[in-house]
Amino acid sequence: MQLAVWTYEGPPHVGAMRVATAMKGVHFLLHAPQGDTYADLLFTMIERRRERPPVTYTTFAARDLGSDTAELFKTAAREAYQRFAPELLLVGASCTAELIQDDPGGIAAALGLPIPVVPLELSAYQRKENWGAAHTFYKIVRACCPATVPLRSERSRPRCNLLGPTALGFRHRDDVMELTRLLDRLGVDVEVVAPLGASPHDLARLAQADFNVVMYPEIADSVARWLGKTFAQPCLSAPLGVIATREFCQRVAQMSGADADSVIDDASCRLPWYSRSVDSTYLTKKQVFVFGDASHAIAAARIATAELGFEVIGLGTYSREFAREVREAAAGYGVEALITDDHLLVEERIGALQPELVLGTQMERHIAKRLGLPCAVISAPVHVQDYPARYSPQMGFEGANVLFDTWVHPLMMGLEEHLLAMFRDDFEFADGRGPSHLGAAASPTVVEAPAAAPTPPPAAAESPAAAESDAPRWTEEAERELKKIPFFVRGKARRNTERFAREFGRTPITLETLYDAKAHFQA
Ligand code: SF4
Repeated sequence: MQLAVWTYEGPPHVGAMRVATAMKGVHFLLHAPQGDTYADLLFTMIERRRERPPVTYTTFAARDLGSDTAELFKTAAREAYQRFAPELLLVGASCTAELIQDDPGGIAAALGLPIPVVPLELSAYQRKENWGAAHTFYKIVRACCPATVPLRSERSRPRCNLLGPTALGFRHRDDVMELTRLLDRLGVDVEVVAPLGASPHDLARLAQADFNVVMYPEIADSVARWLGKTFAQPCLSAPLGVIATREFCQRVAQMSGADADSVIDDASCRLPWYSRSVDSTYLTKKQVFVFGDASHAIAAARIATAELGFEVIGLGTYSREFAREVREAAAGYGVEALITDDHLLVEERIGALQPELVLGTQMERHIAKRLGLPCAVISAPVHVQDYPARYSPQMGFEGANVLFDTWVHPLMMGLEEHLLAMFRDDFEFADGRGPSHLGAAASPTVVEAPAAAPTPPPAAAESPAAAESDAPRWTEEAERELKKIPFFVRGKARRNTERFAREFGRTPITLETLYDAKAHFQA
C-alpha cells in the first residue's frame, strides 16, 4: 500500500455511498472506525447537498476492538432500521473494519429485518471508488429487478433507461436533464434513471425499457451488460461532443422512427461554428494533454482533435479497469497512454510534454497552475466549483457548448496579454510577468502558495522559484531576440530553449542557442 496526500479515487465504500446517497429509500450501514464520517463532508461541502448521506457508521474505537464489535454492528443495524425505515439496507465494511472480519452481511441477514438486505464485498485493499459504485449498483439491481422477462405494456413511444449517474458525480445531474430533453425530442421516453433519483421499487421497472443508455461506463457497465443479457436490451453510449451527439441521435431515431435531421440541425449547437470562426482559428493545432476517468478522457481527446482542431500530445487515465480502451484511443493519436493513479507521474509527464492546454481533473488543475499552463476540468475527482449553480451539462448539444466555453476560454484569455505587451514599459505591466489569468505561478519572478491545493509532497513541489534557480542564463542579445517572439508563444519558446540548453550543455543561452533550439524542436 502506498500513502498519498491526494488520490484520484477514494476507497470503494465512498463509491457505495455515492450510490446510496443518489437513491431514494436506501440506507447504508457501514462498519467503520471513528474518523470515517469524514466522507459525509464530500457530499455536504463539495456537492453542497442539503442533507447528509443516508449512512450509519458503527464508528468503533480502539477500545472496542477488545470486546464484541459484531454486537456493535447488530445494534447499529436495528437502530438504523427503526430510525430511517429504509426500503433496502446496504451493509458493508470500510478498510479497517474489513480486517476485523465481522461479516456484516451475515450478521445483518441473521437479524431478520423485513426489508431486502444487500451485503457488499468492497475489497478495500484491491479496489477503488468507481469500482465500489459499480459493484453496489449491480448488487442493488440484482436484488430489486427480477430476472424474468416482463410483459411490456402497450405504448406509443419507445422507452430507455439512463444508467450510471450518482451523487458526487461530475455534472451528472445536468447530464441527466440534457439527455432526457434530447431523447424527448427524438420521440423516446425515459423509463428509469438510476441510481440517481431511483428507489429500489423503480429498479423493478428497468426491464420495461427498450434500450439502455450507459452514461458513465465506470459505474454502469456491469449493470448494462446484465440487462442486455437478461432482457435483450441494446445499449448506447451517452454522447459527449457534437459528433457523438449526432451519431447518438441517428441511432436513437432508427429505434424510435423520429426525424433525426431536425434535432441534429439544432441551432443552439454553437461549437462547430465557434471553433471555425475567425477568432478561434488561431487555436488550431494547440497541443493538449488529456487525463481523467477513462470515458471522459477518451471523449475529450476525440472532441479536442475532431471538433476543435487541437493536437493530442498526451492521453491517460486513472481508471485501471478501462486501461485497454484508453491505450487503444492513445494509439490512434500516436501517443503512449499514461495509466496511473500516481499524480506525481502525471505531473512529471505534463512537465516533460509542456502542452499548451491541460484537460484533466482537479488534480491536473493544481498541477497546471503550478506549471503556469492553462487548464480545464473534464472529469472527477471534483472540487466544489464543479457544482455550478447554473445549468452546465457536458453531454448533448448544450454540453458541447459548455465544453467549448470551458476549454477554449483559458486559451483565449491569453489574448489579453497583448495589452501587457503594449504597456510593457509601465511598471504594472512588466514583460517578465506571466499571463494574468494563470496567476502568479505563471510568472518566473513570483512564488505562489497554492490556495486550496493539497500540500504536494516535497519531491513534486518544485516551485517556480526552485525551477528558476537552475534556469540557464540568457545573454542580453538572446533576451532581446526572445522578446520579438509573439507574447502567446514566448513562454513556450523560453521553456523549450532552456530545456535544449540544459540537455546539450549550452550555457549561457546565446542568439545561436535560441535558433538551434528552434530548429531542434521543429525537426
Ligand atoms: S478505514 Fe480506510 S477510509 Fe476509513 S479511515 Fe481507515 S484507511 Fe481511511
